[in-house]
Amino acid sequence: MEEREALLDRVSSSDGTGVKDPATGAVIGRVSFGTPGDVAAAVDTAVAAQPGWAALSDEERCAALMRAADAIEAHAEELAYVLSREQGKTMDGLGARFEAAGCAIWVRTAASTPLPVEVLIDEPASHAELRYRPVGVVGVITPWNWPMIIACWQIVSALRMGNTVVQKPSEHTTLSGLAIVEVMNEALPPGVLTAVTGAGDVGDALVRDRRVGKVMFTGSVKTGMKVVEASAGNLSRLTLELGGNDAGIVLPDADPQAIAEGVFWGAFINSGQTCNALKRLYLPDAIYDEVVDAVAGIAAKVPMGIGLDEGNALGPLQNQMQWNVVNRLVEDAKARGARVVMGGDPDAGAPGHFYPKTLIADIDNSAPLVQEEQFGPALPIIRYTGLEQAVEWANGVDFGLGASVWSADREAALAIAVRLQAGTVWINSHGGVDPRIPFGGAKHSGYGLEFGVEGLKAVSVPQVISG
Ligand code: ADP
Repeated sequence: MEEREALLDRVSSSDGTGVKDPATGAVIGRVSFGTPGDVAAAVDTAVAAQPGWAALSDEERCAALMRAADAIEAHAEELAYVLSREQGKTMDGLGARFEAAGCAIWVRTAASTPLPVEVLIDEPASHAELRYRPVGVVGVITPWNWPMIIACWQIVSALRMGNTVVQKPSEHTTLSGLAIVEVMNEALPPGVLTAVTGAGDVGDALVRDRRVGKVMFTGSVKTGMKVVEASAGNLSRLTLELGGNDAGIVLPDADPQAIAEGVFWGAFINSGQTCNALKRLYLPDAIYDEVVDAVAGIAAKVPMGIGLDEGNALGPLQNQMQWNVVNRLVEDAKARGARVVMGGDPDAGAPGHFYPKTLIADIDNSAPLVQEEQFGPALPIIRYTGLEQAVEWANGVDFGLGASVWSADREAALAIAVRLQAGTVWINSHGGVDPRIPFGGAKHSGYGLEFGVEGLKAVSVPQVISG
């Protein structure tokens, strides 16, 4: 066994369901899935550990989290290996090593973000201040696209604020979820962070447990709505990140060569399996062909293949379900007469869930590939004539996670950016997140903020001390 395989070996169970490598179909480990009945025991553990964890000073909790970040860094290659084998992403590029490194960065930043008592009024006859208390136990339910870093985002802010956490990874990437929890637990006191495995019924049991005061959920709109319903009886606090269908609008003054690489990676990062990826590209008549050619030129050079093979920059889709979604949307676009600039011709018989890098031009804005979230490496490119039309189309979907505007003139880009119904609008890039900058969605992309001081406040209960 290679040294970097040790963690995968440790989190894999001796029996249970085989976990398949999305690139090859090879069985890489086993998971024995939990049941709703296992949730109560995990929450018991979290409830028992919470008062002791909350009783530590903020400095002591931050020091423990910094040690967790050290542990993540010490095991970074092993974490990346688990991710690449189970999720499919490449070790290189914006892939598995990038995700593992990001975990440590997020933990360190959340553990060093100042959150002082806020003095609201300080007058001779009146004093009021705002403090933030822990909620208690926080349930963290995560998806399969960025299974370690999304878990880290939510775990670390919850822990920082004195909560304990029960984490349920996606059933598609259970080993990745177990691996990040195992590594962080090398540094954390017992019981502070617990994982439960299983499918939607286990997530549902976690939401319904009356002792879970807050749920951080990242997944689909459909499941997010179920989480809202299931939490109603507990009046649990919720943060919901429910995906997106982000538009990118290129203004006529943009330089096609200068923006092509940013547009490509904004759309194709993690083979498009990213909530805040660029999923609809709106190009003006004036530079339509130039931008299509420039993006295609970049795409042609990016190698897609098995994640473990060094040098690859894009991997397969994580599962067959998602492959089917992408294939259906692209086939529909072709049937409508849209132009295939590249890709669109998967080899359905090949091993793994590879879908080729696909650019679909001259597509109508009403096509399902534009209106639905494809969550894969297939980008629709829509021509617009007037900017008003582009803004209307960009805002014309239920989602509102991110958007981008591309222009050589920042003021012109800004004038459009403020009109877009999205939680984040990037100018001349798409999809970058930063642990110091709040991130969250508008409309059906969910509610609540993560990251920065806002993200810490979101996993706590505000308390006013007056007098
Ligand atoms: P995706 O389509 O990305 O898999 P889902 O919304 O189905 O998104 O899943 C996201 C996470 O939510 C996973 O961990 C999944 O097991 C969990 N989940 C699925 N159904 C429910 C539910 N009814 N209640 C709580 N969590 C659920």
